[in-house]
Amino acid sequence: MRFKNPVFISSAYSNNDYPQHNFPEIAFSGRSNVGKSSMINKLLNRNKLARTSSQPGRTQSINFFNIDDRFVLVDLPGYGFAKVPLKVKKEWGRLIDDYLYNRTNLVGIVQIIDARHKPTKDDLMMVNWLKDTGIPTIIAATKVDKLKKSQQSKQKKLIRETLQLAEDMDFCFFSAKTGEGKDQIFNFIVDLIEG
Ligand code: GDP
Repeated sequence: MRFKNPVFISSAYSNNDYPQHNFPEIAFSGRSNVGKSSMINKLLNRNKLARTSSQPGRTQSINFFNIDDRFVLVDLPGYGFAKVPLKVKKEWGRLIDDYLYNRTNLVGIVQIIDARHKPTKDDLMMVNWLKDTGIPTIIAATKVDKLKKSQQSKQKKLIRETLQLAEDMDFCFFSAKTGEGKDQIFNFIVDLIEG
């Protein structure tokens, strides 16, 4: 089974703009430039999904894509731009907060971090936020193709400790280059949308 046909639904700039539908939603979250678009494209076997890239300082939106009438993929705006005006940071916070706490369609989150580095303060803030909501989450550490095999278990330990992940929190390494980890994320999604 594969995901075949992503169709852009709409962008939301506030909770008034959420699309109306009855499909479960899976949201993708991560720091800007972490590799979120590349991951989404790899999972959907696409070279380019419309409307992903975000620019520093711009008003950011939540983007919704219908995947084969099975679920709706939600691309959350990236965080962690160094030079974003405070106003935009506040808008981002309000947008995400509304979405995470009020969106009843939301069934799962793919939280993306960089496999090569210690998670940032912003990553920790985001993960704590997700823990607080209680929404099922998988931590996907991307760009693992840039890590040597011998570094992986040390890096996994560092990530788990820094983010204070419970034993039962799903974790996988991922690479948009090699496709490693694709099945784990795929299974995480399928379990939630069919469960
Ligand atoms: P986004 O801002 O989070 O959507 O990040 P992008 O998907 O645009 O990726 C940011 C940069 O990281 C680009 O130069 C990608 O080519 C690169 N990148 C993304 N995923 C991977 C990966 O799995 N492995 C490697 N080596 N590079 C990646």
